[in-house]
Amino acid sequence: MRPPVTSLVTGAAGFVGSHLCERLLREGHQVIGLDVFADYYPRTIKEANLAALRGVPGFRFVEGDLTRLDLAPLVGEADHIFHQAGQPGVRPSWGKDFDVYLDCNVRATQRLLETARTVGRVQRLVYASSSSVYGETRDLPLCEDSPTRPYSPYGVTKLAAEHLCSLYHANYGVPTVSLRYFTVYGPRQRPDMGFYKFIRAALEDRPIVVYGDGEQTRDFTFVEDAVEANWLAVAAPAAGQVLNIGGGSRVSVNQVLATLEEVLGRPIRREHQPPQAGDVSHTWADTRRAKEVLGFAPKVALREGLAREVAWLKETLER
Ligand code: NAD
Repeated sequence: MRPPVTSLVTGAAGFVGSHLCERLLREGHQVIGLDVFADYYPRTIKEANLAALRGVPGFRFVEGDLTRLDLAPLVGEADHIFHQAGQPGVRPSWGKDFDVYLDCNVRATQRLLETARTVGRVQRLVYASSSSVYGETRDLPLCEDSPTRPYSPYGVTKLAAEHLCSLYHANYGVPTVSLRYFTVYGPRQRPDMGFYKFIRAALEDRPIVVYGDGEQTRDFTFVEDAVEANWLAVAAPAAGQVLNIGGGSRVSVNQVLATLEEVLGRPIRREHQPPQAGDVSHTWADTRRAKEVLGFAPKVALREGLAREVAWLKETLER
């Protein structure tokens, strides 16, 4: 009998990482989940993300910091690494907190890559990159060869880590794949993200804050589609590649709110505030390369995905 496949998932207590762990366990992998419970949002939320994983046979959780931990024993056990850990968020990445972004996005990734280069038998290292590497542009849709000119300190650190992945592949053959996620949403979405804040405010009958005129657009990706891209990246001949992962639902914030009003069956009050530093006007993913290389095709449309996030948040708040 073949030994079970072992996957190391960094950021396992986070939004995307916790869904990914569940999927890998369903696929029969042994999963080591690593997370430091960074205080970007409350630990209680991250513990809730992990609740369905704790006690599942094949799942082991390690609490630790990628910037400090001796990674060799964990990497040594892993066939695949899914590097989802990071300090997220565009708006808080200015000022003194930039150090945290450097540590958790750049230094953490370098330590993981260096360990994978020297230890073990890693066959795939998937890195959770971001559409924020592109920055402010009107040249849409964004393809992987579009210029990368981040517009926020966060984007700079995500791009730096992506470059580290590419150069560890080019120099040492570390089998990296970078997935540039475009705004991920769905159940367990981070509490600082737009949809979470919109839905929560609407459910609590508070006005929502819209930055700018609401005509900014995003390509929104349902979390199961982002997880599927990770799964497909394991087996695809994709080493060294950088791929856009988008949901195929590029809509404006105003359109999102109109859809949300339909899903909730009631109007949503809005307050407009000036655009925030670092926020780009538009994102729109050209996902043809991910389709070619991975066979990736997003399955969940915005309305269905929003309804699933609403149902989850309603239940969570009631609890
Ligand atoms: P999240 O904050 O919910 O999850 C990230 C997890 O990483 C957290 O639980 C945090 O505690 C952990 N972490 C941070 N620093 C760590 C360290 N030094 N050591 C160990 N663990 C650490 O964020 P998310 O939304 O699930 O995002 C996952 C990844 O995807 C991130 O790298 C993010 O930059 C990237 N990404 C997310 C989106 C999105 O829309 N959610 C879009 C583009 C890219």
